[in-house]
Amino acid sequence: MIPFLDLQKINIKHEEDFKKELNDILRRGWFILGEKLTEFENLFAQYCGVKHCLGVANGLDALILIFEAYKELGIMKVGDEVIVPANTYIASILAISRAGLIPILVEPRLDDYLIDTSKIVEKITDRTVAILPVHLYGQVCDMDSINAIAKNYNLKVIEDSAQSHGAYFQGKRSGNLGDASGFSFYPTKNLGALGDGGAITTNDDELARVVVAYRNYGSHIKHHHQFKGINSRLDEIQAAFLLIKLKHLDSDNEKRGGIALHYLQNIKNPAIVLPKVNRDKGHAWHLFVVRTQQRDSLQKYLLDNGVQTVIHYPIAPHRQYAYNEWQDESFPISERIHNEVLSLPISPILGKNEVDSVVDLINAF
Ligand SMILES: *Cc1c(COP(=O)(O)O)cnc(C)c1O
Repeated sequence: MIPFLDLQKINIKHEEDFKKELNDILRRGWFILGEKLTEFENLFAQYCGVKHCLGVANGLDALILIFEAYKELGIMKVGDEVIVPANTYIASILAISRAGLIPILVEPRLDDYLIDTSKIVEKITDRTVAILPVHLYGQVCDMDSINAIAKNYNLKVIEDSAQSHGAYFQGKRSGNLGDASGFSFYPTKNLGALGDGGAITTNDDELARVVVAYRNYGSHIKHHHQFKGINSRLDEIQAAFLLIKLKHLDSDNEKRGGIALHYLQNIKNPAIVLPKVNRDKGHAWHLFVVRTQQRDSLQKYLLDNGVQTVIHYPIAPHRQYAYNEWQDESFPISERIHNEVLSLPISPILGKNEVDSVVDLINAF
């Protein structure tokens, strides 16, 4: 069986390093907001090329905290609108709702699955305050167009970088391509913890100052609470593990890129549409997502032949019960994507023979 993603194999190679870090933390006896978190925040900020990185509990919280901080700064308020791609993972949209803002869905493009920048302006109203581009599957959105629109209409750009650790665009990393960015370190992501984790990156000193308190009960100084904050922190153990894995992120992404190139060059079945790659470099290849009208039968055929695949994602956000206010709305491109996409195995530990078997099977489908 070729598993879709073998998290055991990805992590076990760092066993000795993990054990050493865990041992050090046990001996120090300091578990929350300590030196490992600071070290990780400094290194990840440096890696992304930004001034500030703040560790939080997960990717959803990272996005929520950005919106909450902008509300505290008087830049956003309850009822304001945020533009977001209609085919994103539901967490991007939930973050907007959770902060009391209104998600405004924009269709993606069918070829690269990213927000269709030509359809953003028509959705802007006098309540629009931000665009939330999602670098879905690891490919950076058209940040030139998005930042130009944002500048014209005085909007914030908040990147959802949960799938694009290490991806870059014109020499700048994901996380440094807008006003602020949310990352997830969920175990399956390109930079994955051994549990939940997330971070915010930004060059905005004011925003960072609010988030640093907001994630810790709204407190800068113990027992003094400036904001009605929350508890959302990245713990010492996860920060230490992430520091170990951050060293391998670029080489891991290169291995993903090699597998993607192999798929792109060798899958030749006319029934399968390969993902469009917009630039030579900079794709983090979190997922390799093909499209076909026979998606369900392709998935079953691959599974019967020992290859596990996953659908990212089977149900469109506007078709979720939680968002039944959108039940009469129609996003045909997003719906088509949800009906046709299939993610093939891709990861830093997938071997050449395994990739070859997937290619051969697909070509024989
Ligand atoms: C994983 C993910 C999130 C949420 O991250 P969690 O750490 O699971 O909360 C947000 N947006 C996108 C696009 C994601 O893939």
